[in-house]
Amino acid sequence: MTKIVNNKQLIACQQCDALYDKPELKQGQRAKCVRCGNVMAERKVNSIERSFHWSLAGTLLLVPAILLPLMGVTLAGQYHHASLLDCVVVLIEREYFMIAMLVFLFAIAVPVVRLAGALYISYSFKFNQLKPSLLHFCRAFHHLDNWAMLNVFMLGIVVSMYKLLDDTQLSVNMGLLAFILWLFSSTMAAAALDQDYIWQKLEDEFVD
Ligand SMILES: [Zn+2]
Repeated sequence: MTKIVNNKQLIACQQCDALYDKPELKQGQRAKCVRCGNVMAERKVNSIERSFHWSLAGTLLLVPAILLPLMGVTLAGQYHHASLLDCVVVLIEREYFMIAMLVFLFAIAVPVVRLAGALYISYSFKFNQLKPSLLHFCRAFHHLDNWAMLNVFMLGIVVSMYKLLDDTQLSVNMGLLAFILWLFSSTMAAAALDQDYIWQKLEDEFVD
């Protein structure tokens, strides 16, 4: 949390509210509060590079995560596969429109947009393609972060809906592995981004 008072940048400890002059950190350095020891700021090592690679990995995992069978279902003696997309289609066919929409939104659309966002931001910083529009983009990306973990919750709903709809036996398939890895990559891509560095750089470039 930084505030500008008399043109001087201050940083407040999130734990005990002590105010300090904002430190200039080098890669790998942390600023700790003298009073309570809380880590107030941290400059992550190779933040952009790591985020870029994690988001590339996530993009590659995207297709198998959505299209590969998530689970196998044995129904009346017959074995069926179901991918995440199949689950949405089945929910629509059975007229669970609201749940189908929520699953699509939070298990597919939001993670896709979030991953694309992390890829775009890290790409722009890695190859020095900074544009003023990035300011708005980063603000929007920040809001999206609040919805990040909802896809895990949604996956749980999909599986339990399947279980409820039919008396079935479930088995886990490759799609689920891809989904978990995809989830991990998109979380790592966002976590590796050094927010403070990004905002500082954008502020220096575009804010007077
Ligand atoms: Zn403190």
